[in-house]
Amino acid sequence: MQLTHVDAAAVRAIYERPFPELAFAAMSAHREAFDPLAIQRSTLLSVKTGGCSEDCGYCAQSARRTTHVRPEPLAEIEEVVAAARAAKDGGATRFCMGAAWRGVKDGAPFERVLAMVRAVNELGLESCVTLGSLQPHQAEALRDAGLHYYNHNLDTSREYYPQVVSTHDYDDRLATLSHARSAGLKLCCGGIVGMGESRDDRIALIAELAAMESPPESVPVNLLVPIEGTPLAARASFDPIELMRTIATLRIVLPLSHIRLAAGRAEMSVELQTLCFLLGANSIFSGDRLLTTENAALDSDAALFAALGMYAE
Ligand code: SF4
Repeated sequence: MQLTHVDAAAVRAIYERPFPELAFAAMSAHREAFDPLAIQRSTLLSVKTGGCSEDCGYCAQSARRTTHVRPEPLAEIEEVVAAARAAKDGGATRFCMGAAWRGVKDGAPFERVLAMVRAVNELGLESCVTLGSLQPHQAEALRDAGLHYYNHNLDTSREYYPQVVSTHDYDDRLATLSHARSAGLKLCCGGIVGMGESRDDRIALIAELAAMESPPESVPVNLLVPIEGTPLAARASFDPIELMRTIATLRIVLPLSHIRLAAGRAEMSVELQTLCFLLGANSIFSGDRLLTTENAALDSDAALFAALGMYAE
């Protein structure tokens, strides 16, 4: 059952348990709500790359930075359909489309995104988009197009957020999530670890997610991929035990949500990925690229699942 009242103190009491106790509780919660052998797979495509007005410190797509990313205009529907078909053939059940926008503007580009959503649905895939901030009528238009999930990450704690982003604030993020939820969309919302945030920040983010009236059905946990040209390019490597505590705590406080190992998985050892799956991570992105960074290859995922006796769904 989803917990009804989760504050930061309650989350801390879970997060800081002795690791064997934390792991046992997370594995038990996982088994109660999910098949522990199954991993949900999504594929993510950038449908509009770079040139973004925002200054998110981890992102290669900000127009304020000089990175390896070259801006590309909004994709044509045919390109998206071809990529979605390939994702389905590769075993993905959800197809996510990302546009590097501050937010949605009404007009032809948004109409094209709505058409992409309809086309992806017609292939029998679940659809997800991440388009930045949304107004209520835009959330309703996405719902009417058949969109299943809207992705909008909180990234980190409210306290640490201004260290990472200055061009919009935490309440802007929460407002978009509220509009998406009010329209009846499922939410994909998580964060990034390894940005220099403290344990307190990770606990606060988990508490923020768990305290939502309807917590997100999908919770991506990204490990920072430092990208040259971004303010976070020089971040030191992250303690894997903190990553595992984050995953396990999310599994306990959001027992009905899919917890996704998202960006940064290509840098994780198979041992670390395996431990995260045991602790309750049950969703991944498949495919060689995640927007603008490398991802674990399909072949290596298939080999890992075969070795573990697990399967993708
Ligand atoms: S994370 Fe999104 S909003 Fe922020 S700079 Fe990147 S594309 Fe823009």
